[in-house]
Amino acid sequence: MSQRNVRMDRFRERVAEIDDLHSTISVLHWDQQTQMPRGGAVARADHMSTLRRIAHEKLTSAEIGELLETLGEHEASLPYDSDDASMIRVVRRLHERAVDIPADLVFHMSKAAGRASPAWLEARAARDFLLFAPYLQDIVDLRLEQAAVLGHEDNPMEAFVSVKESDLGLADLERMFDDLREVLPPLVAQVAEADDPEKRASLIRGDFDARKQLELGMAAARAIGLDLDERGRYDLSVHPFSITFSPDDVRITTRIRPDDLGSCLFACIHEAGHGLYMQGAPGCLRQTLMDASTSRPELGRAVSFGVHESQSRLWENIVGRSLDFWEYFLPIARAFFPTQFADATPKDLYRAVNVAQPSLIRVEADELTYSLHLMLRFELESDVLNGRLKVEDLAEAWNAKMQQYLGITPPHDTVGVLQDMHWTRDFGGGFQGYALGNVFSAALVAKATKDEAGLRDGWNDGDFSGLRDWMQREVYNHGAKFQPVELMNRATGKGLDTGPYIDYLRTKFEALYDL
Ligand code: ZN
Repeated sequence: MSQRNVRMDRFRERVAEIDDLHSTISVLHWDQQTQMPRGGAVARADHMSTLRRIAHEKLTSAEIGELLETLGEHEASLPYDSDDASMIRVVRRLHERAVDIPADLVFHMSKAAGRASPAWLEARAARDFLLFAPYLQDIVDLRLEQAAVLGHEDNPMEAFVSVKESDLGLADLERMFDDLREVLPPLVAQVAEADDPEKRASLIRGDFDARKQLELGMAAARAIGLDLDERGRYDLSVHPFSITFSPDDVRITTRIRPDDLGSCLFACIHEAGHGLYMQGAPGCLRQTLMDASTSRPELGRAVSFGVHESQSRLWENIVGRSLDFWEYFLPIARAFFPTQFADATPKDLYRAVNVAQPSLIRVEADELTYSLHLMLRFELESDVLNGRLKVEDLAEAWNAKMQQYLGITPPHDTVGVLQDMHWTRDFGGGFQGYALGNVFSAALVAKATKDEAGLRDGWNDGDFSGLRDWMQREVYNHGAKFQPVELMNRATGKGLDTGPYIDYLRTKFEALYDL
């Protein structure tokens, strides 16, 4: 065996160990969010911190550094998108970023996150942000330390944008939000004047049995192609999420609101969209840090958050909220809820699931107003990290921006600044990915539709294979090999382009609301 092969084998072994540690952390995280009694929180934070520190030490070890150096020539001799060259490139990026961050800092971040999570739950129960503020302050302080270590002391937000989205910078995101800011608020205002949202939505509001809702949600997840039998499972959690332990073991969670059918159903389709990407990662990417895992925030995630979110929002909105989908899905929904949907038509459901109206909660916001919720968080995070806003004043600033962008003010913090779990473990750059996801999803579907004539023809029969096959080829197969602009360029010929998303929203909502 050549020296080069020996080195490559050793490199693979080392990377597999790191990947295994992160998968194990994922199992602990999943258990923490779905099964663990509250009393387990402190010990669990310790378990996860220890594993994260070991994974960090392994990734930053001198051995990995040396292997990366000696494998440079091998990498250069291989096609750019080959598995080996990609693994060397991806691990080098993660290694270089991680060596900049001391293991101590990683450990303290993990501990702070472990303490913040129960404090957040307590603050939510008391509806009082100030109970959570000191814990969030700890996280912000550590993030500022991290930004300084990454060389972005003057503009910490830039550090976290590049950690989350690799080849996209703060300026790209500001340009994206500028485009959306120009188009969305006027469109939202026009739609709000067009008719009575309560009346449109009444079909999916009321009394919907919880167990049946869960079954219906999973029927939808299965319909778009998620394997929930051999390679996945579902559970309930406070905040819906998806996580992978390997492409053959993908978990999704949802929550149920008995008075609102859409909450559980669209969370299921959303998380199933993430799940398809994870299950779609080819077996050869196992243990390479290149599968489509979402759960390595301390590594900066090999895969882009925006690209991941494009996959969930694509199925949730472009498919799940289409008229074609409801032509197929209404009879299934009617089988679960015969009384509620006795006289409903697909068009009625299409209108009911596309009510656009300013609302308080991001995860329940409609497709049209959703990006405004993200713009608000993006601006607040930038303000805090760049020293323009104090953590203790976040609740007030939050409420002011809600009024400014959406015209409503939260009655208490639980439905305002305390609504997202994200800030219990991370602060800075965690939200723009959802907006990028919207923008990418429309661009991907526009290109897929152009590539494959008749791609949508089967939707009203429940056949989504055309779209799924295109995504498999252009997105899933690559796992985390490519950075977002790189991937979008390969798939669509353009990097970050808001055009298709704005066209899609205008066409859809102008027709729906007779504007
Ligand atoms: Zn998501």
